[in-house]
Amino acid sequence: MPTLADVVAAIDGLYDPRRAEAWDAVGLVCGDPSADVRRVLFAVDPVSVVADEAISWGADLIVSHHPLFLRPVHAVAATTPKGRLVHRLVSHGIGLHVAHTNADSADPGVSDALATAIGLDGLFPLVPQPTDAVDKLVVFVPEAEAEALLDALSAAGAGVIGDYDRCAWTAAGIGTFRPGAAANPTIGSVGAVERVAETRIEMVMPRARRHAVLGALVAAHPYEEPAYDVYELASLPGHTGLGRIGRLPEPEPLAAFARRVARALPTTAAGVRVAGDPGRPVQTVAVCGGSGDSLFDAVQSADVDAYVTADLRHHPTSEAREAGGPALVDVAHWASEWPWLDDAARRLAAALTEAGTTVDIRVSTTPTDPWTMHVSSEEGSAPER
Ligand SMILES: [Zn+2]
Repeated sequence: MPTLADVVAAIDGLYDPRRAEAWDAVGLVCGDPSADVRRVLFAVDPVSVVADEAISWGADLIVSHHPLFLRPVHAVAATTPKGRLVHRLVSHGIGLHVAHTNADSADPGVSDALATAIGLDGLFPLVPQPTDAVDKLVVFVPEAEAEALLDALSAAGAGVIGDYDRCAWTAAGIGTFRPGAAANPTIGSVGAVERVAETRIEMVMPRARRHAVLGALVAAHPYEEPAYDVYELASLPGHTGLGRIGRLPEPEPLAAFARRVARALPTTAAGVRVAGDPGRPVQTVAVCGGSGDSLFDAVQSADVDAYVTADLRHHPTSEAREAGGPALVDVAHWASEWPWLDDAARRLAAALTEAGTTVDIRVSTTPTDPWTMHVSSEEGSAPER
């Protein structure tokens, strides 16, 4: 049986907390890392009905998407709803762990689950995070010493490409130099032009390892003054980041697409709101689970037919429509993030199985959409009966 620390480590492996936005508050909110965990409940919101469900099922941990506390607090007394929730969880031995914007940006993450539920394929990030910064190291070494230097650079962290290590490209050439009066040359003599058969070695290295790799180079290279260059490589779009873009197998009218979205998501009072010509063909679609109007600029330049997200406000929506951008499909915030729960639950189960342990995992089916009723304008103007 895993401890809470084991389960948290598995969740962090799926949803790296370092990928969370700077303003976010992710990670363990309450719970003893040494406690045993038998049952894990996934939910979008850490609210009282979810605590009820966790208590009645006998859960040891709630994994929620939304943080309980986004701003610092100086008390968790049971005099506020959030303080009462903390007390209830602690008194029942239930931990709370948050995977929020780190789950949004992960690959796969919250928007992948939303896009997949809708039926989109070929997903890539709407706002990609850059891959980790990489340098290219070029160094020249006498041919006979090339393999030993390559080993030393590899041991210091250079030459890793995907699942391969000790990757390098080499070429033969002639190095030439003239040692000065104060030099102590390994090859050649002071004042005489020397020509040496050398190997040019090229290797990539994480920028974070620059200091360690160059230290290993100087230590392992036979020359008093090794010649080397370090090039900063362009940052590339990675597979992580906010939102996703994908395609439907066939184009369909916006009205049919909106019904497809409604069917794919759990039922909510407000359902789905649409801005755009109902006959407009839709095939390429951007999605963002949760509040997505902050990504309008990226959506406008992405050349998509529709954008599915939640919490769209009047002014940004109106301005986006005036700019002639894609059709907008606005769903309940809770519903847009709900498909992720099932995906995250399956991935956690697989990660724990791989680690040789197992827990009972359940996805909360308690709706936590705060909107509970919708009256259409037609219904409002009908006579009371
Ligand atoms: Zn959200």
